This record gives sequence, C-alpha cells and structure tokens, in this order.
Amino acid sequence: MTRSISIFGATGSIGDSTLDLIRHDRANWNVVALSANCSAEKLAKLAIEFDAQIAVVGDEACLPELRQHLSGTQIEAAGGAQALCDAAARPVDLAVAAIVGCAGLAPTMRAIEQGNTVALANKEALVSAGEVMTRLVAQHGTTLLPVDSEHNAIFQCLEGNNLDDVRWITLTASGGPFRTKTMAELEAATPAQAVAHPNWDMGAKISVDSATMMNKGLEFIEAFHLFPVGLDRLRIIVHPQSIIHSMVEYRDGSTLAQLGPSDMRVPIASTLAYPARMDTTCQPLDLATIGNLSFFAPDEERFPATRLAREAAHAGGGTPAVLNAANEVAVAAFLAGQIRFTQISAIAARTLDTYVPPAPQSLGDVLAVDAEARARAGEMLEIA
Ligand code: NDP
Ligand code: MG
Repeated sequence: MTRSISIFGATGSIGDSTLDLIRHDRANWNVVALSANCSAEKLAKLAIEFDAQIAVVGDEACLPELRQHLSGTQIEAAGGAQALCDAAARPVDLAVAAIVGCAGLAPTMRAIEQGNTVALANKEALVSAGEVMTRLVAQHGTTLLPVDSEHNAIFQCLEGNNLDDVRWITLTASGGPFRTKTMAELEAATPAQAVAHPNWDMGAKISVDSATMMNKGLEFIEAFHLFPVGLDRLRIIVHPQSIIHSMVEYRDGSTLAQLGPSDMRVPIASTLAYPARMDTTCQPLDLATIGNLSFFAPDEERFPATRLAREAAHAGGGTPAVLNAANEVAVAAFLAGQIRFTQISAIAARTLDTYVPPAPQSLGDVLAVDAEARARAGEMLEIA
C-alpha cells in the first residue's frame, strides 16, 4: 500500500537523504508537498521527479522563479510562511520536519495539529516551543518520530520498556571537528574549518553547532522533551567515532545502545518504515575495521554550550527559545565572517543573561520570544 509524505526542507541535507530513500522505494510513496526556502530550481526539479502535488518556497520573493521552473506541469506552486503552514495542514501519513532553525516551527506545529505523524529533524522547533509543542502533540494524539540520530537511537532503545525503569539516558557526541583543539586554536577557527565535520555530512548551521557543541546542548533539551525521565537522568558523553548513537541504562544495570554507520539515511529509514523496517543502501558497520570505540567526558571549559543548554533546560519556560534564537543569530554571523568562533557561545550566554521571558503559552508567545531574543543577540553583534 502506498503511503503519502510531505517533506519540509526538501532541498537540504536531511531532505536529500529522505528523498534518496524514497527514490529507492518509489512505488510505496505518494509525495504530497515539498518545500525549500529559496532553492527554487532544485525544489522544482525534485517536485517534478517525485510528482509532488505542491512545491512551496518559504521566501515569497522566490515564488516567481519556482513558477517559471514548474511551468507546463500540473504541480501547484506557492510561497511564503502561510503557504508553508497550509501545505503542512494537508493530511499525509508522514510529514518530515527538516527545515533548519525556528523557521520550521510554525509548519511543524500545523502538521502536528492536523494529526499528521511527524518525523522530526528540526530540533530548534522543539527546543524553542518545548511544552507548547509537546502539549499540542498530546492534545491531537500525534505521533512524533525522532529523526536526530541520538534521539532515534534512544527511541529504539526505549521500545518495549518503561520510562520509570530508566536510570540514565546517555547522548553521545562526536565532539566535532575541534574536539582536540586548544582555546587559542578555537579563537582562530574559520567557518570552512567549522563546517568540515569528521563523521557527518550536514547543513552549515548544524555543522557549526556540532563544532561549538551547541548541537549537543540543543539535543539535551530535545531529549528532555521527547523522553520525560527528568533532567537529572540525562547526560552527555563524547564518543568521537559516532558509531554508538546513544544509550539507555536501566535500573537492573543493563544498557541498551543503538549502533550504525554515520549516515542519516539509517535513522530516517527507521521513521519512514516505522514500526516496520525497510532496506537501505547504506554501508553496513564493519566493527573489525573500526577496531576501537572511545569515550571522553565533555570539556565545558572549551565548549561551554552544553552547560548553557543544561542551565536553560533547568530554567525552562522561554529560556531555551532565547538560547536557540541567540545561537541562530550568532552562527549566521560567524558563517558571514562577522564574529569569531568563540563569540558564538559568548553571545548566547550574554543574551540569556539579559533576557528572561515569561513562559510561552502559545505558538505566538514562542515566536515573540524568538523575535525579541534575535533582536537582542543582533545588538550584541554590533559590540562584539
Ligand atoms: P540544510 O541547511 O541542509 O537544509 C535546510 C532546509 O531548510 C533547506 O531545504 C532550506 O531551503 C530550508 N530552509 C532554510 N531556511 C528556511 C526558512 N527560513 N524557511 C523555510 N525553509 C527554510 O539543513 P539540514 O538538512 O542539515 O538540517 C535540517 C534540520 O535537521 C536542522 O534542524 C538540523 O538541526 C536537523 N538535523 C540535521 C542533521 C543532518 O545530518 N543534516 C542531523 C540531525 C538533525 P533552501 O535550500 O532553499 O535554503
Ligand atoms: Mg544529532
């Protein structure tokens, strides 16, 4: 039986991996909506290849270009933030949330509200909205399947078990490209060095987040919402090989781990086929060649981001949204050559110091906190 799917962020790294799986399993999928921000030509090509019903660009200014590339086809073209939400409201068996940043929040909330099962890659949306999103999930009985490799691993390790029996959830972190760098080397790190991740091929923003360890900080908050065992049962360990994607330790002393190649098609496939399994063309693990797996405690002196995220998670309310927004602004500024690498976490920390919003109760509240935190972080760039 064919299943219907929409992919938000179809032109990105997660979008590529998802569509590659669908390409190899074409007969089983009916593609409804595909979206991009402004990669109109690439989006149109994908929409034609996958015979999508509708293609949407988030940036309305790119709609004429999308229309031009889709002319002569039956595929609908749309643009703008509202069009993204309207597309997310179309009923599908699976909506893949793979837009980067808080920009993906509104369409993700709309898909949840519709009751569409959501494969969530867009961690910034959950970090920012927190309980506002998890409440909506509960209210609409929506299934949220984690795509992020760590959370997908934890999800698999928890299946058939009881959260009350969990002693520890341990998120593994590769440590990123700068794991062994000195503070002085971090000061001088360039965008090109930061996006060259040793194990994973990802979009620019998450690659920088991996280099600062903010990715693991955001994932800590993401795990807190997805797997409510309490903050004191969540921890992070550095595991440079990225073979164990995360672990769950139970009260009897048994630890379950999920292992796999560093290829996002593996966790994505587990969400596409859930609760069954599907074939992938991913390289199988060759543990004899890998030889050794190593583990280290995180160094929060050189990489303060995980500490900032833990503190933001403990503070709760709108604070994680402030952290996320300030980080998005700082990462964009770093990628544009405006600030140094070490200023990313410094700007996030200073924004958190100056802005403690009341707990958001609605999507509108979350977006207001996000906007205010962006404005404040933007001002800090001026003096950075
Ligand atoms: P990319 O930068 O590769 O792709 C981002 C996608 O979002 C593109 O389709 C882009 O469109 C679209 N987009 C960007 N900005 C906007 C906007 N303002 N409005 C609407 N659409 C927008 O990112 P990744 O695929 O790497 O990451 C996507 C999400 O998945 C992130 O939240 C990331 O943290 C998460 N994730 C990614 C992993 C990975 O391996 N890449 C692993 C785990 C999680 P356009 O092409 O037009 O710019
Ligand atoms: Mg991850």
